[in-house]
Amino acid sequence: MLPMHRSVNGDRLQHTLEQLAYYSDTPAPAMTRVLFSPVDMAARRYIRDLCEAVEMQIRMDAVGNLFARWEGVAPDLAAIAIGSHIDAIPYSGQFDGTVGVLGAIEAIRTLQGTGERPLRSIELLLFTAEEPTRFGIGCLGSRALAGVLSPAELRLLSDETGEDFDTVRLAAGMTGELEDVRLPEDYYHAFIELHIEQGPILEREGIPIGVVTAIAAPATLHLTVEGEGGHAGTVLMPDRKDALTAAAAMVLAVEQIAATNPSPDAVATVGRLQVFPGAVNSIPSSVQLDVDVRDIQGPNRDAILDEIRRRVHEIAEERGVKLEAVLVNCDPPATCDPRLIHVIEQAAEELRLPTQPMVSRAYHDALFMATLCPTAMVFIPSHGGISHRPDEYTSLESIVQGVEVLVGALKRLAW
Ligand SMILES: [Zn+2]
Repeated sequence: MLPMHRSVNGDRLQHTLEQLAYYSDTPAPAMTRVLFSPVDMAARRYIRDLCEAVEMQIRMDAVGNLFARWEGVAPDLAAIAIGSHIDAIPYSGQFDGTVGVLGAIEAIRTLQGTGERPLRSIELLLFTAEEPTRFGIGCLGSRALAGVLSPAELRLLSDETGEDFDTVRLAAGMTGELEDVRLPEDYYHAFIELHIEQGPILEREGIPIGVVTAIAAPATLHLTVEGEGGHAGTVLMPDRKDALTAAAAMVLAVEQIAATNPSPDAVATVGRLQVFPGAVNSIPSSVQLDVDVRDIQGPNRDAILDEIRRRVHEIAEERGVKLEAVLVNCDPPATCDPRLIHVIEQAAEELRLPTQPMVSRAYHDALFMATLCPTAMVFIPSHGGISHRPDEYTSLESIVQGVEVLVGALKRLAW
């Protein structure tokens, strides 16, 4: 372990956060940075330049994941990875993902300032498309790294304009082979992602550092309800097979199943409902809805999913409508590595920063990195728990504290 370190340079970090915020399709503080758009490409260039300026070796894979390596004195040992994402959903904030990328670069610069090279290489990872904005699937880059999204599945993705992923990524200059994206299982010794909490707990409790113990993972169920349409005036009530009233019963069942589940972390949401034909004087003939189900215990999440499937089929039968249920994705939740959790807690303790163990209810690239190597996350407070909005805010002091914990953890892991 490296004993002393020069402290993190808050002004330098603040400057990079401000610079990165210029690369947006909406004026700051509203961020819009969609995968491979001109502003995303310019932002990537900016990150690359920062890394090259401190003599890190850059590699880009075929989906656009960027790796910047500060080589250790024992390059044969598996590296320590740190990082996050810089893509931003339309009209979101400046801190989601970016603090994990710029904070990682600042951590490396801080450690370089000691003049001591690490034993293990330290690698910054900038993940492609953590947000599902363009291709409809979140954590595209980390899924591909972990082999959860295969080259064949990547080739099937297309954006709203009908352009397929392969064409888009080649046009953006990501010319490698999709078959080479998946990382070998022993590639990294550990991965740590610094991220804003995106929830209210740390600020409310006055605790600067959250140590994530588990990451909840979503499962998405896509339901299509087919009833019988007709004139809203002439079809009498006993003769109806209204697809929307059936869907409404299903929405309430989803809520009730999650609310009565004994797990306090179980949640289920219907956030999208499409009604056809959608006219005031027409009985809905068809409804599509998406059900998002999460829990930190995989078997319990799957049990909830089974119960929802059973109950919505019952409702369809009671109401005489047809139902098709398709499981869109069902990712396993992740447990953070106990040894890494301990390392993070020790680093915070050395800095006299109180910590709190917590569950990440949002998913992150760390969810998929956890299938590749021991993984952990450091959370810092989000003002008001607000995220994915222009008023998303984390103070520079909080960000610096998060980076200092990262520096302390790297000193323990890489030296
Ligand atoms: Zn994020």
